[in-house]
Amino acid sequence: MKRISILGATGSIGQSTLDLIRRDRSAYTVVALTGGRNIAQLARDATEFQAEIAVTAHDDLLDDLRAALRGTGIKAAAGATALNEAGARPADWVMSAIVGAAGLPPGLAALQQGATLALANKETLVAAGPLVLETAARHGARILPVDSEHSAIFQALVGEDIDAVRRVIITASGGAFRDWPDEDLARATPAQAATHPNWAMGQRITIDSASMFNKALEVIEAREFFGLEPDQIEVLVHPESLVHALVGFCDGGLMAHVGPHDMRHAIGYALNWPARKALPVDALDLAAVGQLNFRSPDPARYPALRLARAVMQQRGLSGAAFNAAKERALDHFIAGRIGFLAMSDVVEEVLNRLSAQTGLIDAEITLDRVLHVDHLSRDCADTVVQEQTENK
Ligand code: NAD
Ligand code: MG
Repeated sequence: MKRISILGATGSIGQSTLDLIRRDRSAYTVVALTGGRNIAQLARDATEFQAEIAVTAHDDLLDDLRAALRGTGIKAAAGATALNEAGARPADWVMSAIVGAAGLPPGLAALQQGATLALANKETLVAAGPLVLETAARHGARILPVDSEHSAIFQALVGEDIDAVRRVIITASGGAFRDWPDEDLARATPAQAATHPNWAMGQRITIDSASMFNKALEVIEAREFFGLEPDQIEVLVHPESLVHALVGFCDGGLMAHVGPHDMRHAIGYALNWPARKALPVDALDLAAVGQLNFRSPDPARYPALRLARAVMQQRGLSGAAFNAAKERALDHFIAGRIGFLAMSDVVEEVLNRLSAQTGLIDAEITLDRVLHVDHLSRDCADTVVQEQTENK
């Protein structure tokens, strides 16, 4: 039996992972499930899957979780330390599906105990790529990509020599505002940004898809995961979201990964790797699809992609700063304090201010430094937003 834990079990990726486990229940022992404020869901899943422990991120919800698990024999725990302990519990396979930089410490804990880390949490590699890869190598742990584009690249590389790779093309749906005129974007609301033309995902990644911050994170994630040079990574807008990524080789060949927009494919691939098993994913009817379209993203419309390039040039802790500033800018947009287009202005300003502090961004990556820069970056984003609102 494969022992598995799910960090972020109550979210979109977590629930899709449990859906796959449910279909092959006897093959798995569920060790730890973690969640946030949705205690009823967490307790229901922990009970159904007879988890050893259920953990909420929020200390103030420990009593509620205990009450919901009374009589089940399942342990309850809460808070950041408990999340790390959930990651550290011996398991063969750990799904990293918390949203945001909060996913980094428990994911590192999972690598330190030698588990295979199925990585949906792209922020982990953006904020601390070299540290994460080095931790995995030191503990003989494997990381398998779950982000659909990175799973696609990973699959296209099976049996290939990475030295023969010339370029990687990541596709982007274009998100909610793909077909909006530029002049309307400034007025876009959080509710409008949180609808996605193709994928059903959590609220935050859906808004990041509309702003292309999601793609910006993914470009950095691809650079870290596959050890590519920044100029080897291209982005194409592909409204159908059926080609998830393409790998271009030195002989001119392109290997494309094509499939329906269902995250259970990428999750199932990581769950069953190195085998392939049948998954509850629809067969794609390409004749019904008819056409696949591709176009270059407009750089003026998507400053997030330019910022990702700057982060890849700068390296060091700039990924941690970039991600944290983006998370705070997104919080402010969701709260209605800044407009849709202001998010990238805030992130750029934070990167400029932190880069001006000697020795801060250029330092070698350690977890403490990542957490420190993350914290500074969020504070700085708050200051920038405050200044912007005062100047209005
Ligand atoms: P979601 O918002 O649906 O779920 C997030 C999970 O993390 C929930 O269990 C929530 O309780 C937990 N969580 C939130 N904040 C937390 C915190 N501060 N500390 C601990 N736990 C916290 O998100 P999602 O769409 O499932 O995305 C999860 C991760 O996977 C993200 O990094 C996202 O970028 C990535 N991802 C998602 C998809 C997708 O289709 N949803 C695709 C590719 C990558
Ligand atoms: Mg993706």
